[in-house]
Amino acid sequence: MLRAYLDNNASTPVRPEVVAAMLPFLHEGYGNASSVHQRGQAARAALEQARAHVAALIGARPAEVVFTSGGTEADNLAIWGVLADLPPGHVMTTAIEHHAVLFPFQELEKRGWTVTWLPVNAQGCIDPDDVRRALKPTTALVSVMMANNETGVIQPVAEVGKITRAAGVKLHVDAVQAAGKIPIAVEDLGCELLSLSGHKLHGPQGVGALYVRRGTALRPMLFGGRHERERRAGTENIPGIVGLGEASRLATAERVTSGERLAALRDHVESAILEAVPHAAVVGAGARTPNTTNICFADVDGEALVISLDLQGFCVSAGAACSSGAVDASHVLLAMGLSPARARSCLRFSLGKQNSTEEVAALLEVLPGLVARLRELSPSWSH
Ligand code: PLP
Repeated sequence: MLRAYLDNNASTPVRPEVVAAMLPFLHEGYGNASSVHQRGQAARAALEQARAHVAALIGARPAEVVFTSGGTEADNLAIWGVLADLPPGHVMTTAIEHHAVLFPFQELEKRGWTVTWLPVNAQGCIDPDDVRRALKPTTALVSVMMANNETGVIQPVAEVGKITRAAGVKLHVDAVQAAGKIPIAVEDLGCELLSLSGHKLHGPQGVGALYVRRGTALRPMLFGGRHERERRAGTENIPGIVGLGEASRLATAERVTSGERLAALRDHVESAILEAVPHAAVVGAGARTPNTTNICFADVDGEALVISLDLQGFCVSAGAACSSGAVDASHVLLAMGLSPARARSCLRFSLGKQNSTEEVAALLEVLPGLVARLRELSPSWSH
């Protein structure tokens, strides 16, 4: 029995309004958006309407939005699209990126590129001055995430944008965890490229978008048609794109009220846990997305706590969802200076629109007892 799904940074439930908007395109709206007949043109119209909604969410022009199969593809398209034709030079990213950026940069290193891995402070935030100091004449791309998926910590992207702009270097922003949660205006960020993903904002999985500033040269990764202004070939996923469009439209309309409610609920869950569980501490401070808190439970095996909570009907995660099951401690928490043992004791609680104070109350009925039991099993627990 599911009592509370508190893992919305991994994936969110699709909103009923989004499902309703998508359904016609799984029934009679099956046309190919490239076809000249009515069915095709209806699909094309829906595609362009969705593009306008996504553009409005981030303050872009519709023509600057390229639909992809998700955040991972958007990140890869940004990185390879800018660098594919260049001889190896210098690039820069942070030590706390999602694997969808981290792994392409590791691959670049293998291919002869020099990578500067920007460090973060104990609060999980980069220093824009580090970007300024690391710039080289050969720097071809800087990629900085807008909000971290594990801690919710918001990075000073606009300040980085000023620096990259002045230096004439392209900036990519992974805004997958920011879109729909905090305001985004691509003009203010000063970025050339920005990624987002449907399933993090109550849209469907397997669809995302890359913002490509007008005039930015981008080499496609997929060839096979003239779709998406020749930036991403392949018949468009109309139901998915319509879902992302509707989720974006709703997120734009409701962001302020929804953000305030989520922040209040997050602050409540955070302070209630700190009060009810001894030796618990929040990881990551400063500006954070309104839905995320990461809490370290000293001397508790995080994975064991995830499983214990799951057995009680609560979904949360330890470290990034995609690294769950792996024994490695989170690279994000290690970069913040946590010891591997402490990093393995952290849990991420990430809220969504559907969560309620009743669910938080139910969590608090079981969490202190589970933590106490796991600590009794821990050889290092001596309090
Ligand atoms: N970037 C960040 C910051 C993420 O949190 C995620 C997913 O967790 C991704 C990229 C990848 O997005 P997708 O799951 O749509 O491929």
